[in-house]
Parts: sequence; structure tokens; C-alpha cells
Amino acid sequence: MAHEVTLIPGDGIGPELAEATRLVLEATGVQFQWDVQEAGIDEYESHGNPFPDATLASLLRTRVGIKGPTTTPVGSGFRSVNVLLRKELDLYACLRPCKAYEGVRTRFPETDVVIVRENTEDLYAGIEFERGTPENAKVRECLAELGSTVRDDAGVSIKPISVFGSERIVEEAFAYAERNGRSKVTAVHKANIMKFTDGLFLSVARDVATRHPDIAFEDRIVDNLCNQLVSRPEEYDVLVLPNLYGDIVSDLAAGMIGGLGMAPGANIGEKSAVFEATHGSAPKYKGLNKANPTALMLSGVMMLNHLGEDEAAVRMEQAIAAVIRAGDKVTYDLKPDRDDPTAVGTLQFAHAVIEEMNA
Ligand code: NAD
Repeated sequence: MAHEVTLIPGDGIGPELAEATRLVLEATGVQFQWDVQEAGIDEYESHGNPFPDATLASLLRTRVGIKGPTTTPVGSGFRSVNVLLRKELDLYACLRPCKAYEGVRTRFPETDVVIVRENTEDLYAGIEFERGTPENAKVRECLAELGSTVRDDAGVSIKPISVFGSERIVEEAFAYAERNGRSKVTAVHKANIMKFTDGLFLSVARDVATRHPDIAFEDRIVDNLCNQLVSRPEEYDVLVLPNLYGDIVSDLAAGMIGGLGMAPGANIGEKSAVFEATHGSAPKYKGLNKANPTALMLSGVMMLNHLGEDEAAVRMEQAIAAVIRAGDKVTYDLKPDRDDPTAVGTLQFAHAVIEEMNA
């Protein structure tokens, strides 16, 4: 039976990458019934809403979506589609596998880590009090009563980390490790300084680890982890982190595997799962058939695994890896010289992957 999947092309380079990815997914032989839905700046400009209700309704119905990037203009009243998606669907886990494929220029060829980032809490919860406002004064007064003084010209952001939020993200990290034959989970924190938030995260992680005796568990302080990740990447496997550290370490890891064009991702919740690349809409490349579709294609591989189509996922990943390893039919960013005239376009890369899969 065909899998019904919500397909959100997005804007900027999104529609080109989504089309290339759809072609490769269909070439695996797995049957899809696509429900194509809009989101992003083009939709905002034509209909006044960057995230239509129909798109949300589709994701709630199909419970699985694949999405091209969407632009968030700086300094306007425009709300980020990605933030809305995460909030509306409670997509609490962000998974980002970062693997260095042979043929990609990187100083860290041994890298093969999976970042599991908590998506809803921490300093990104949006609990902020602007300097000079009555609300800010009230919070500082309250803090002073509790014995903590904050300068009166300070902005204040609150960092909530709960047992509930920590437990479900650490469980997700262990479940990922078990499903994907991974052997170790590392909890990343700053519990030596923030005892009641990161300390709580670490203590919950230790408890959860006792329920998964077949997977090794360790923890690292985040600054030390960054140092070790670039010194000895081969020692790390699945990393589970609160929101802020997860955001930073995923970009570090994306850089280690050859850049944003290579880094896939998934945002997972109870109600739905949305698969998308780590990178943005790169508007300067819009419509040029130039951008690298690998990150979205690898997000498609993750989606196949999520749908239980493991054999197709392996074939698709192996074909992408083979095209990158051969190095001739790859996009400009994967060539040693970015101006190499032999670089192929987005669509031609997709055709090369399909050819490899059918070989
Ligand atoms: P970006 O990732 O779009 O682009 C940064 C640079 O990375 C590009 O100029 C390009 O050189 C390179 N790049 C990115 N993707 C590439 C690809 N597939 N192939 C080849 N090169 C690629 O980041 P940005 O310029 O900071 O953001 C542009 C817009 O995207 C912003 O509006 C931002 O809010 C949005 N954004 C969306 C998402 C999402 O939808 N998930 C994520 C990040 C940023």
C-alpha cells in the first residue's frame, strides 16, 4: 500500500531540492501518495499566511512530512514556519545524523555521529523579559526577594528544563541507538555550573540509561565535548543535548562532514514527524538548478526508515554515497574547486543517484 506523505516544497531552493528528492524516493520502488502543501515566503506573499491551516491539517492526518527549507525574513512580523511547526505539532526531538561520506572534503573523515536535540525547552522556550519593561522589573523584584540580584539594565531569559522534557528526549536517543545498531549514548550538559537545569537533565539521563543496559552511556560537559569532537570524532556515536547546546553542536558537526549541503534532519513528535535538511532556503541560488540536494535526500532516507522501508533506505543511501564517492556527477559545493565547470545541477545529481540505484 502507498504511504501517504505530506510534501512541502518550501521556497528559495526548496522546490528544486524537493523535486529531486521526490524523484529518487519514487525510484526506490516504494509507493507514495504525495499530499503537496504550501508553506514559506511565496505562500505568504500570495495568500498572506506563511503556514496555512491546510498544511498543518495534512501533517496531522498523514503523520509524516518531508519539507524543503522556508525563508524567515529578518526584522518583519513574519513568524518562522519551522518554529510554528515545532510548536503546533510538539515536535520535541530533532535528529541530525552527521556522517562524513567518502569523496567529501573534510578534515574529520571519521565523523559518524547522531545529534539528538531537545526542541521545546531551555533558553529557546521564549520566556524573555525585555530590558526597561514593567515585566522585567517585576521579574527582577521577585529574584531580589529570593536573594538573587540582577542589574536593572539587564534583559532576562529563563531556562526551563523539566524531568518530562529530559526523559522523553533521552528515551528518544536510546530508542534511536537501539533501532539503528548504535552502541553508545553521550549526554551533553553544563551540570557543573547549572545544577538545577543541566544537573536535572544529567540525572534524568542517568536514570533512563539504567533502562537500556545494552547501550553504553557516558556524559560530557559541553565545552569539553566540542574540543573532543574535533580531536577524536571516532569516539562519539549518539549525542543527546538540551536545546541550545544541540543547536550549536549540530552546526559544528555539519561543518565537520563537509557543510550544510550534506546534513539531513528530522523533527519528531507523537503526532507527526517532519523530515528536512539542516540548511536554509539559500535564496541566491533559487531557480538556478545549482544547490546540492544531498541533505534533503538523506532526510528522505531517514523518512524511509521511519516508514519501516529499511531495505529501500539502505539502497538509496548507498546510491547517494556511491555518486559522491565517484565525484564526477556532483554539485559545485562537492567539487575541490567550487568553480569547476564539470559540476552538475540539482536535477542531474538526482538522475545520477537513480542510475546508480538501478545499476
Ligand atoms: P542557508 O543555509 O540558506 O545558506 C547559507 C549558505 O550555505 C548559502 O549561501 C550557500 O552557500 C550554502 N548552502 C546552503 N544550502 C546549500 C545547498 N543545499 N547546496 C549548496 N550550498 C548550500 O542559510 P541562510 O542564508 O542563513 O538562510 C537563508 C534563509 O533560510 C533564511 O530566511 C533562514 O531563516 C532560512 N532557514 C530556513 C531553515 C529551514 O527551513 N529549515 C533552516 C535554516 C535557515
